[in-house]
Amino acid sequence: MQTSNISGASPLARRLLAISLFTLSIVGAALLPKASFAQTPTPSTQQVPGYYHMQLGDFQVTALYDGTASLPVNLLHGISANDIQTLLEDMFVPVNKDGVQTAVNGYLVNTGKELILIDAGAAACFGPAMGGISKSLQAAGYEPAQVSKVLLTHLHADHACGITANGKMAFPNATVYVSKDEAAHWLNKETSAQAPKEAQAFFQFAQDSVAPYEAAGKLKQFAAGASLADGVASVALPGHTPGHGGYMITSADQHLLVWGDVVHSHAVQFPNPQVSIDFDSDPEQAVATREKILARAAQEKLWIAGAHLPFPGIGHVGKQDTGYRWIAAEYAPLPAGN
Ligand SMILES: [Zn+2]
Repeated sequence: MQTSNISGASPLARRLLAISLFTLSIVGAALLPKASFAQTPTPSTQQVPGYYHMQLGDFQVTALYDGTASLPVNLLHGISANDIQTLLEDMFVPVNKDGVQTAVNGYLVNTGKELILIDAGAAACFGPAMGGISKSLQAAGYEPAQVSKVLLTHLHADHACGITANGKMAFPNATVYVSKDEAAHWLNKETSAQAPKEAQAFFQFAQDSVAPYEAAGKLKQFAAGASLADGVASVALPGHTPGHGGYMITSADQHLLVWGDVVHSHAVQFPNPQVSIDFDSDPEQAVATREKILARAAQEKLWIAGAHLPFPGIGHVGKQDTGYRWIAAEYAPLPAGN
């Protein structure tokens, strides 16, 4: 046979072959440019697109990243500053001079019949660290013009500013839905005129955000508990703001509650639901609402999506000691056919 392998060669031939391979490797290494070993690609300065899909029965829910806010730790009240510090350390949450990183998330629900956006982020209201919802939505394969409904959990600027871009409807074919109690507070000219000076900007943000929809007859108010689409119902969660609420998304016996601002600090408020935040209009009511909905979420094993939980902010609530814990969803492939 012409093609003998090495083990079939004579001992002398094998030795000669080994020596020549060794020599070749040394000469070869010396001849190759050093850069081919040392050159490493430059790290990216761009994070991956901010979206994440999950399947909920026949629906697809997509978390959309708007950006990040810094939450000063001294805005949290109800336990000692030392205890807050310990909880943040236990959860490895870095604290810098501005506070802790807090995600701002919106959620897109594709029911197969329509595209519904829940909360629209901050747009330009709080600077460049937020305002990415439209970009995330497009990265996820959708266009703002395809959204038929925008449901707001409340009218704070980090949820509502994103519905408007340069004074125009950012979702040109959408109707915006706000609870009656929320509209009665933020969109009432008398209430806003009487509000303390430092709160005036928040009323202005809310009114400016809905203005183009109102002018087009595309702003709708609903009573808490109302059904807003097949498989989408409002859930009253008052306290953070007077008409704050979530949306229960149901498909094929699976339930996901998009709960808005029930929790601002996952490290602190899951184990201690009694901790409130300065932004709460009625801290006592906010605490009572949080305790009630955490108990329900744990009991009914609901999927949860939170506007300020670490992105994508989707997961479950478990009971732990005297409080609760957050169990984030694991990255998962989608069922075939989607
Ligand atoms: Zn918020």
